[in-house]
Amino acid sequence: MSVEKDKIFKSTCCYCGVGCGVDVTVKKNNTVTVVGDKDHPVNRGMLCSKGMNLQYTVNDVSDRLLYPQMRYNKNLPLQRVSWDDALNRTAAVFKTFIDKYGPDSVAFYASGQCLTEEYYVINKLIKGFIGSNNIDTNSRLCMSSAVTAYKMSLGEDSVPVCYDDIELADCLFVTGANPAWCHPILWRRVEAHKAAHPEVKIIIVDPRITDTCGIADLHLQLNPGTDITLNHAIGRVLIENGAIDLEFITLHAEGFDSYRELVFERTLAESALICGVDEENIRLAATYIGAAKGFLTMWTMGLNQSSVGVNKNLSLINLNLITGHIGKPGSGPFSLTGQPNAMGGREVGGLANLLPAHRDLANEEHRKEVQKFWGGTTISDKAGLTATEMFEALHDGRLKAIWILCTNPLTSLPNSRFVEEALKKAKFVVVQEVSNTVESLQYADVILPAAAWTEKEGTMTNSERRISHLNKIIDAPGEALSDAEIICMFARKMGYKGFDYANMEEIYKEHAKLTSKTNININGLDYKLLQKHNTLQWPFNKKTEMGTKRLFTNHLFYTPSKKAVIYSPSDQLNSEMPDQDYPFILTTGRVRDHWHTMSKTGKVSKLKQHTKEAFLEIHPEDAEAIKIEDNQIVIVRSRRGEVQVRAKVTTTIKKGVVFLPMHWGKILGNDLNRANNITSNLIDPLSKEPDFKFCAVQVEKF
Ligand code: SF4
Repeated sequence: MSVEKDKIFKSTCCYCGVGCGVDVTVKKNNTVTVVGDKDHPVNRGMLCSKGMNLQYTVNDVSDRLLYPQMRYNKNLPLQRVSWDDALNRTAAVFKTFIDKYGPDSVAFYASGQCLTEEYYVINKLIKGFIGSNNIDTNSRLCMSSAVTAYKMSLGEDSVPVCYDDIELADCLFVTGANPAWCHPILWRRVEAHKAAHPEVKIIIVDPRITDTCGIADLHLQLNPGTDITLNHAIGRVLIENGAIDLEFITLHAEGFDSYRELVFERTLAESALICGVDEENIRLAATYIGAAKGFLTMWTMGLNQSSVGVNKNLSLINLNLITGHIGKPGSGPFSLTGQPNAMGGREVGGLANLLPAHRDLANEEHRKEVQKFWGGTTISDKAGLTATEMFEALHDGRLKAIWILCTNPLTSLPNSRFVEEALKKAKFVVVQEVSNTVESLQYADVILPAAAWTEKEGTMTNSERRISHLNKIIDAPGEALSDAEIICMFARKMGYKGFDYANMEEIYKEHAKLTSKTNININGLDYKLLQKHNTLQWPFNKKTEMGTKRLFTNHLFYTPSKKAVIYSPSDQLNSEMPDQDYPFILTTGRVRDHWHTMSKTGKVSKLKQHTKEAFLEIHPEDAEAIKIEDNQIVIVRSRRGEVQVRAKVTTTIKKGVVFLPMHWGKILGNDLNRANNITSNLIDPLSKEPDFKFCAVQVEKF
């Protein structure tokens, strides 16, 4: 594709779940420039540092995988092959394993960065035709605790709010999140709202003092892992103050009596001590919430990435339910999605326990319905392996083959050394990837070059249920193909019918049809209409040609009783606790200008300036006790491995807690910057999300 003169295309930023609209201009020399879309309802022309530098990631193709590669056994080098050779061999190997060991001997590990149509065909292939549910994505590491909690309390994985609720809220409770760095454009909207309305109260809950705290009226710098205790304590004060909505609780919720009993089990003084915050500040938070007409709770990985992530989510959603702050302007629980299309993946059922359109794999009727629609094999009733379970199964030999696409598990999964061992033991590894820098390539038997952002068409859904259409703007380099094309070609090589799509529109239409009569209905949202509007929120109302801003405005929830459920989660923590040998609590997170494992942002010199290398934040009193100085190299050790980085001695972190950024992996053969060398492989029993934010470590001088 080349253009005669500069041409502008609409697209959506491919980084975080905020989903900012961009205008991509293709120059005559086929390079692109990217600016914010001034007419886009999400960002109104603004972009953060990552979005502003998107063009450099597109124009620099020096790291791109250009053609398929394969090796015939693990001792031979990879060599260039044709698409036919690569996919014929992969199909032959998959068929052999499936015949010999059954369909559960193979798995696909995908990504919240895949487009919805890509997710759809992978899910259809493995669940509907191979006959296994072994598909999971790195969204498991990100939003699965929120998804489970939404299903439990509201009846379905449904974010009830929209971004416009930010400007309608007069109290925002932001917990386990640093949106000033990780969801920047959304946070610019919060900052602007606060500047225009100084009376709006902002409460931040975080063991670190981050840039997000810059506009806080109240920062509750709690001890890591004590979120449930804090939320219950706030709930208790709200009840004591009479600042709850009894009418809502009586008519539209259930479970309040048990909840009230539970939150009164601890005195406020006890809770304050556990959380490491002042009792008065818990009261103040409850006062701000109680006085609010619009109350938004916002959260992300600090709550989700925990071995009690679902309970943390439930305890937070309870604050919206007991105050009746849901289904009305400026109010509701609002999980900030990490990845750009984690939500789109869930819509098509792209996780090990889901089916399309939020159907449940465990539900026989749902399985039959989808099976009939796809016309393939019987959908297994056995839940598939989740992200970390897949690598455990590779490790112990239950899983023979894994197909990894659009994600970099050696940097992003917990306990990286274990993941390395698992990939070494795998009988067959396919890596479908854009960049030649990702670590899993060294374990690949087959490498499939994939098209990147702007090189393929499809849709994505952001944190507010907003579906956006992304244009194909330029051609992919070399022989790279879109992920959906690759998967469909493979499915045809396997001999499966139903993968002869002429274009992305046909895949979208099939997915949309499956949403008919469900709570996420977009069956009436014609692809051309979506292209015309560029972006709309589900569910879609055909009569008005408009999407739905806010859910549950009638206070009828998706549970069998139509009532929201106020759960009574225990505040017990199941993490690896510090002890004499490993006295510090490690928490991990992002830095401002990098994204995930840096395969994109690591290419942009401007983005590398803000934080040049991995570091360990440590409190001055802790540093002094172990005789560490600022900028000195330290060894951080857990029971699983070690990391060597420079110490950043700072009062912004709580005493007894240390912080490592999660982005750095193996660089020039050195993997000692990799935070996940030492993170814990504990997971939440319900959501199966890992405990990235809490494990025990020791720190010493290098
Ligand atoms: Fe992209 Fe997120 Fe930044 Fe918006 S806020 S420009 S979606 S990274």
